[in-house]
Amino acid sequence: MTKLQKNEKGGRRAMIRIMDRVMLPGNNVSAALKISLVGIIYLLAEGLIMFRSADWFLVCVLMQGQMLISVYLALRYIRSGYMAALGLNIVAVIQEIHLVMINRPNASFFFIFYIDIILAISLITYYAMRSHKIYQEALRQKEEISVAYYRAAVSEEQLWKKNRELESSNQVINRDKQEMYRLANIDPLTQLPNRRMLQRRLDEIGKEAKEQNRSFALVFIDLDNFKNVNDTLGHQAGDELIRYMAFNLSRLTHTADMLGHFGGDEFVLIIRRALQKEEIMSYIRRLAAMLKKPAVLGNMKIAVSASFGIAMFPQDSPHVSELLRFADSAMYQSKRDGKNRIRFFEKSLLDDLMNETKLVQGLKSAIQNRELYLVLQPQYFAEGGELRGFEVLIRWKSLKFGFVSPTRFVRLAEKNGMILQIGEWALKQTCLMMKNLERQYGCSVKLAVNVSAVQAMEPDFVGTVARILNETGFDPHHLEIEITETAFSNSMNPVHQMIAGLHELGVVVALDDFGTGYSSLSYLQQLPFDLVKIDKTFIDKIGLDLQSNQFVSTIISMVHQMNIPVLAEGVETEQQRDFLRLKNCDLIQGYLYGKPMSVSSVRELLDRLKNKATKKSIDQNFSAKKD
Ligand code: C2E
Ligand code: CA
Ligand code: CA
Repeated sequence: MTKLQKNEKGGRRAMIRIMDRVMLPGNNVSAALKISLVGIIYLLAEGLIMFRSADWFLVCVLMQGQMLISVYLALRYIRSGYMAALGLNIVAVIQEIHLVMINRPNASFFFIFYIDIILAISLITYYAMRSHKIYQEALRQKEEISVAYYRAAVSEEQLWKKNRELESSNQVINRDKQEMYRLANIDPLTQLPNRRMLQRRLDEIGKEAKEQNRSFALVFIDLDNFKNVNDTLGHQAGDELIRYMAFNLSRLTHTADMLGHFGGDEFVLIIRRALQKEEIMSYIRRLAAMLKKPAVLGNMKIAVSASFGIAMFPQDSPHVSELLRFADSAMYQSKRDGKNRIRFFEKSLLDDLMNETKLVQGLKSAIQNRELYLVLQPQYFAEGGELRGFEVLIRWKSLKFGFVSPTRFVRLAEKNGMILQIGEWALKQTCLMMKNLERQYGCSVKLAVNVSAVQAMEPDFVGTVARILNETGFDPHHLEIEITETAFSNSMNPVHQMIAGLHELGVVVALDDFGTGYSSLSYLQQLPFDLVKIDKTFIDKIGLDLQSNQFVSTIISMVHQMNIPVLAEGVETEQQRDFLRLKNCDLIQGYLYGKPMSVSSVRELLDRLKNKATKKSIDQNFSAKKD
């Protein structure tokens, strides 16, 4: 900016300032009157001077003064200023009229001059009033704007505050949403997707695969004998093991695949890549090998294997819901095959699955249709070879399905609760049957009845046994109940109570399938069993290697140390029998001595034995040992 421009700007600003001052919107009447008073004095002075001397120049200066005062009044005070100035000039006009009348020279000139002033101030006032109005309007607008601006500022602040509140509540909502999503979709124990999320993802993956004509595989993973870990080491250790397994599995899982925790000891793996069966097999083998590495829980090392079932999309089924069922049944087949196995789904399993449903239907009417019956397998004293008693085994000869293995239908019956009815029936039949035999032959042998875990853990199991004994009149001292470890829940208390209740009735209790479970020995220490039955799998190995022989003899001596007699089941060879005798095994049961037989065969056997008088009871045999 040049100096000239600066000066020019400065001058304009000064002018505007003066005008602003002059045109102050105040319409102050008293100020206008005060100035008018000055004006009147001025007018008087003017008139006096003009009257006394006719100095033309002085008069002209005074008239200029009057004009300035008039203009100032009109500009400064507008309406009231105008009225005051008008009054002043009218006085001057009247004065001039008087002067004209007395023929004062130049009076008419002054008269016209004052008229001019009146016209000029009228015009000025008119414009001043107009600009004042505009000014007022502008002022009002300015006021409105500033109010609006203030309001806007206030509401902007409020808006900002509200925004902040909204933001923070949004964050809370988002956090809640995430938490809800997590709770609904992530398993809290393993931090893996849960059943719900897996099912949803599976639907999506199935849809995608269908659209893109791709294949994928579904793997069902179930830990073997996990229940035993839970039962012996407690749920906390069980949880720890599941977490450890989940961690290890997810470490080895390919990033493209999805691993989830289906619940309990079940995991599901979705292999999203289109792999060949062989590739899937080697992938799963790697997972299986890793799972078998022992986990350290507290101060214990635990090794758990798993059973795997695999179903392929779309080869096995184009429906994801079916796929899950198929993978599950393939996994079950792995379990049936002896656990720790990997199996692909096959159509024959589908038949199994369908048959299973039909079997359940058939089993429901089996009792009424008299399709169930009992067979008895003899048990002998190892030392003298006398008959000790019989294990009662159930059979189902279905009109529709033919002979169904008890391992199969007992599991089914356990799954749907029918085992309670079947078990009660078996116990009652056993007691009735033996009551008749006893009456007929006067014999007193033990009858060992298998009781399922589901049945044994019924709150009123002991009551049911007592009722049946009462109804049939069967001597409780001739009854033995066989239970397996799977009957034991996490807490030993109910099992203890159940065994004590049976003891009170006079019934003895055997621990069946000893050695197959995870911690048979620890159960033995905690629960008052009367007999231990070593599982057939160990007996089978006798004579095969030194280690197996050692194992069986260790079991026998350890159980004997607890003052409990031992029965070996599934004895098929003389070599096995001789070894067991050598190791002081007390009782023997197996095909070598007799297969499970019908009641009529039992009669024949008892007939044969009737002639041989000497029969020892197990109680006599072991009373010495127990003492
Ligand atoms: P378990 O209690 O271990 O029964 C012994 C099984 O071994 C019986 O099979 C018996 O026939 C078989 N066995 C005995 N000696 C030999 C042998 O020398 N060689 C061979 N190869 N096998 C032998 P079974 O009758 O098929 O019963 C299978 C399972 O079904 C039983 O195993 C038991 O767990 C269950 N079960 C049978 N009857 C009943 C019952 O009335 N109630 C319940 N809850 N379960 C039962
Ligand atoms: Ca048994
Ligand atoms: Ca057994």
